[in-house]
Amino acid sequence: MNYFQNAKRVVVKVGTSTLTHETGKLNLRRMRELVRVLSDLKNAGCEIILVSSGAIGVGVSKLKLERRPHDIGGRQACAAVGQCELMYIYDKLFGEYGHVTAQVLLTRDCVDEHVRNMNIQNAFERLLDLGALPIINENDTVAVEEIVFGDNDTLSAIVAKIVQADALVILTDIDGLHEENPKINPQAKLIPVVEEITQHTRDIAGGTGSSRGTGGMITKVEAAELATSAGIVTAIIDSSDPDNLYRLFDGESIGTTFLPKRA
Ligand code: GLU
Repeated sequence: MNYFQNAKRVVVKVGTSTLTHETGKLNLRRMRELVRVLSDLKNAGCEIILVSSGAIGVGVSKLKLERRPHDIGGRQACAAVGQCELMYIYDKLFGEYGHVTAQVLLTRDCVDEHVRNMNIQNAFERLLDLGALPIINENDTVAVEEIVFGDNDTLSAIVAKIVQADALVILTDIDGLHEENPKINPQAKLIPVVEEITQHTRDIAGGTGSSRGTGGMITKVEAAELATSAGIVTAIIDSSDPDNLYRLFDGESIGTTFLPKRA
């Protein structure tokens, strides 16, 4: 059974390491390719909800800082500057393909509390009804705890649950979950399908990650666990070629797919 071919409502998560170059500046070619594919999937009838990191990273670069600030205030300031730039570029690129973007910045308390959670659910429904493409990030400027503890992998799974998505796709700089860390052992075998997330799955995910984002493979597997428990199929695929999204939705075996738990 191909879980992605029939998916209509899809949450796509993209991280800082995908959106930026080693220099910390935006990788415009990658962003353009990603926006083109997402626009096309939307044209084909999918509802796309994008969870995008990058605010702090882009802010660091725009403010010409040499590194990510260590203090919370510095990171809050970078997030405020970077989020603006990020949305400006997304809006411009999606606009070129005729799509309307909507910025949604969330904090943990918005989703933990029932009434606020319902409000957010209503807002998403309305935005999707209106044909807009919501772009979500943590509100890093005001949510101090989120800056310290937050990662957008978890956020993407929470959003997938709120919007009752059919699928969650996490784009990253590794082509999926491997038996070993592929950055240490390039021969490490890719695991194409995970039927059930066990302690072994978490163990092999530990310790792999990228340099510019917050989460590693472990937060992605945890996100997959959260989403699949809610019946949402999840994939971790390589973001270096956004056309991989087409391959996934065309039913090709690509990256690692985590099967939804049956009720
Ligand atoms: N929300 C953070 C940002 O936009 C990133 C969190 C993450 O990479 O998981 O910079």
